[in-house]
Amino acid sequence: MMKTSLSNSFLKTFFVIVLSSFFGLNSMAQSESDKDSVVIARLSYLHHLKDKIGNVWQGFNGKHADLPLIYYGNEFCYVMNPQIKFLTNFESSLVFKDEGLTVYKTKKIDDTPFHMHMTYEFDDEKQFDFHSPHMRCSSLETTSKTIPDVTTMDVWATMVLHEYFHAFQFSQPEYADYYEKHCAFFDSNILQSLYLNHKWYRNSINKENELLLKALNTSDINLARRHLRSFLKIRSNRRKKAYRKLHLDITKAEQTYEMTEGSARYIEAKLYESIPVYQADSSWLYTAGKKYHYATGYNIIRVLDKFGCHYQKELFNHIPLAEEELNDIVSVFPYN
Ligand SMILES: [Zn+2]
Repeated sequence: MMKTSLSNSFLKTFFVIVLSSFFGLNSMAQSESDKDSVVIARLSYLHHLKDKIGNVWQGFNGKHADLPLIYYGNEFCYVMNPQIKFLTNFESSLVFKDEGLTVYKTKKIDDTPFHMHMTYEFDDEKQFDFHSPHMRCSSLETTSKTIPDVTTMDVWATMVLHEYFHAFQFSQPEYADYYEKHCAFFDSNILQSLYLNHKWYRNSINKENELLLKALNTSDINLARRHLRSFLKIRSNRRKKAYRKLHLDITKAEQTYEMTEGSARYIEAKLYESIPVYQADSSWLYTAGKKYHYATGYNIIRVLDKFGCHYQKELFNHIPLAEEELNDIVSVFPYN
């Protein structure tokens, strides 16, 4: 099982720097360069956090994963690690440069009131994010107004890192192609409405998630395998029934959404474990609800960890890998 966590002392030190800057923002009228400094401190924090959390997901740290991130302030946008196409489209000035991190500033590039998502343009070559994932986030202040629960820098950072991990996923061409093929016309709301509108579907998902949790919570490895065998059987029956009764072939889309959101939740969970100032009930991470694919995906990934599977390097090149690994786990003799 892989176990890595962030260095608490690193985080504490960084929080002091970032929070000092943040409180500076509220305590006095700021000059333009002070405002730039606050944003740069926040982006540096995110950049360091990404590299640290990269230790728990192979490939998420390092230069190739330093993908563009657009931060929306009140008057300006700041873009971390922009590509030439962005700089050509939007007149920008360099405000910070360090190893692995460059920050440019430009006028607001759109008027959308709130951003916390990744964009990736599949079709229009003229767009700066054509086949190029861009993370977009509003400032902490705007995020707090939109989502009142987000009041601190660390909670804001976990949201940003969740979305930034989606950019990492889309930076892998095999994943982007697979997503386009299987999810572009199969919205995740379809899974949600199946869960909400069909009792047999909802009961099956709840049972599947329960079996994953039982497999995770037992130290008896043969018992864990038995739970996983039941999980795969019930899951297969549900998918067959969806096809038979509703004429929906959900397998590939469900697997893709589970791995997409489950792995991003896995990153979030690692941050929650590691950030000392944040204490909360974590049951929402692994409990299935109408957006069940977040929890089931997260729990499947934790099962792979429990059984020592090496999946991270290849998962986004081959989405069915996770369930293939589960099939390997349960096929181990003896079948008791
Ligand atoms: Zn997500």
